[in-house]
Amino acid sequence: MQKLKNYIYNQWVEGTGEGNQLYNSVNGEKVAIADTEGINFEQALDFGRTVGYKNLSSMTFYDRGEMLKKMALYLLERKKKYYEISYKTGATHTDSWVDIEGGFGTFFTYSGLAKRMLPNTPFWVDGDTQKISANGTFLGTHILTPSEGVSVQINAYNFPVWGMLEKLSTSLLAGVPSIVKPATPTSYLTHAVFEDMIASGILPEGAIQLICGSAGNMLEFMKDGDSVLFTGSASTGKKLKSMPSIAQNSVRFNMEADSLNCSILGLDAKPGTPEFDLFIKEVRNEMTTKSGQKCTAIRRIIVPENLIGDVQNALIKSLDQVKIGNPLNRETRMGALAGKDQFKEVSEKINLLKTETELIYDGKQDLIDANYESGSFMSPKLFYNDQPFNKNISHDVEAFGPVSTIMPYKDAEEAAALAKRGKGSLVGSIISHDEKFVAETSWKMATTHGRIFVLNRDNAKESTGHGSPLPTLMHGGPGRAGGGEEMGGLNGLHFFLQKTAIQGSPDILTAITKIYQQGATQKFSDKHPFRKYFEEVEIGDSLETAGRTVTEADIVNFSNVSWDHFYAHTDSTSLNGTIFDKTVAHGYFILSAAAGLFVSGKKGPVIANYGLENASFFKPVYAGDTITVYLTAKEKINKGVKGRNIPSGVVKWLVEVVNQRDEIVCVATILTLVAKKSQFLEL
Ligand code: NDP
Repeated sequence: MQKLKNYIYNQWVEGTGEGNQLYNSVNGEKVAIADTEGINFEQALDFGRTVGYKNLSSMTFYDRGEMLKKMALYLLERKKKYYEISYKTGATHTDSWVDIEGGFGTFFTYSGLAKRMLPNTPFWVDGDTQKISANGTFLGTHILTPSEGVSVQINAYNFPVWGMLEKLSTSLLAGVPSIVKPATPTSYLTHAVFEDMIASGILPEGAIQLICGSAGNMLEFMKDGDSVLFTGSASTGKKLKSMPSIAQNSVRFNMEADSLNCSILGLDAKPGTPEFDLFIKEVRNEMTTKSGQKCTAIRRIIVPENLIGDVQNALIKSLDQVKIGNPLNRETRMGALAGKDQFKEVSEKINLLKTETELIYDGKQDLIDANYESGSFMSPKLFYNDQPFNKNISHDVEAFGPVSTIMPYKDAEEAAALAKRGKGSLVGSIISHDEKFVAETSWKMATTHGRIFVLNRDNAKESTGHGSPLPTLMHGGPGRAGGGEEMGGLNGLHFFLQKTAIQGSPDILTAITKIYQQGATQKFSDKHPFRKYFEEVEIGDSLETAGRTVTEADIVNFSNVSWDHFYAHTDSTSLNGTIFDKTVAHGYFILSAAAGLFVSGKKGPVIANYGLENASFFKPVYAGDTITVYLTAKEKINKGVKGRNIPSGVVKWLVEVVNQRDEIVCVATILTLVAKKSQFLEL
């Protein structure tokens, strides 16, 4: 029997004990043994904190993003192998797609975010600079650096691949090394993917480690700077969070636990409406995908009281059509639970639900290519709670399988009140085409939900569904759901980053952030900054232009060229009660005239105008005013941007336009694509 090796301190190490036997949940056959006995966890943590941290934190955000992309491509090529293993966990092809390719998708999304939005430096300047003093000699900003420690990632058994990759996408991008601890029952699938990640050679040494089996006493060695990300039951989560090593060492702890998510059918969504059908389909999918073993699955079906019978009948009819059995058979739509232990646990929860509510559907049917004795199959089960404000069991007990409870409500107020009875959920959905109903319910239930998904005929085709967490949106929930946050685009990185306020003079802040700060020393020279290649441009390189006196003709001409005949530029009789004394020059004219003053016309290293950011106009410019421009190299972004295959980078320039009284009338940041000199040297 294959013993899963652990990957620690850069080696594959086999446990020295008997370990835990892992089983195929479809036919009960033995698959592998997970064993961590003899592993020196303290050493593994130290290896991450030293070697892993050094290697990852010295890379730039941009390079780490590229690393994620390479890895996702590498794994994608090998996906067939993972699907074959995934069937053994009871997952159908669709279930496996969500787990496997959903995981790769998270890597792709984060690499895209890094490319578009993160700097090519190992630190990240967060937010704008604050001008703290009157004369601008004392400024403040924030920088984010990878937390100096290791991240222990404890995952649940239901998503052996996605669970690992969604956490790694943010920790790796943030530059923090990780120790992955999959849930033991399905760790053989995580192991297969992890093995390839190591074999790829894409990650630096120490970036990731893996333990398959018990975490032993590892968490006792957690230190300041380390973090734990936990997905699983609330009871385990709370126990781990309160361990002295975690509570007393300020170890960051993110928890994603049980969640009694709900779905609300709108008062408007009567049988015959598209919303009614969408609701039935959504609930059926959420009950049966992954055999209901999804942290986001719908556990509470909240329905207008006059539609209970209709929903019950339609849902039962729909569930009857879900073929259960061996996931390798093409006809199968629902596979098995992850194992016998999970089956036992769900059965116990079902018995608890039975104490207060009525089991109205127990869709036991013949299995395809499998049997109930050797596999961990469970048919979908539907309960009915006739008094959801009195019978609390449906709001308290999470049966982590194909189990859900229908309950009635009267109005939007009641629907939201029931939704909130879950005491904190990852997601709640509302299926309705009545905007007023949706707005009222969602406002009221938002405080207890991490995500609200609204489905109706307008978005049905493109919507990703109630149960799908998305990398660009927050995944997590308050209260019972653990109070954690994962993903959510770049926000997901903050958990792994130390935020530090930096205060100092403009020159000091420029030196630290590598971004020119207004008021810092400018470097003037005879060479026009636009005559410099990307490598030659230095932060602070500046140009003071000649002056240009704006005339009435400029304003009239610009109105004609642009077709912008706004009264303030064209009608001097209409200015009473406005902020202008005379017809004012267009803001866009000032920017265009500024460009006319600062560009170097002759063909050179600057390839193209790449964009404009944060343009502000502070004072009006009238005919007769003279403007002068200061152009200063503010930031260089070396992200391998290619303009028609010409190696180049992006330079951000601070444009300050002043009038004849030296008052700033306009500030903007313009972006140019600048060719690299290295291409010519290589020729
Ligand atoms: P557990 O909380 O028992 O396990 C979750 C993870 O924690 C597993 O990796 C487990 O490892 C690990 N773990 C358990 N004890 C320790 C410890 N002392 N130190 C370190 N790690 C530990 O949950 P289960 O997986 O057994 O699932 C039980 C219930 O949790 C489900 O029935 C469901 O209600 C809920 N659940 C919620 C999920 C969600 O996403 N919200 C997902 C899955 C489950 P090991 O497997 O080795 O014990």
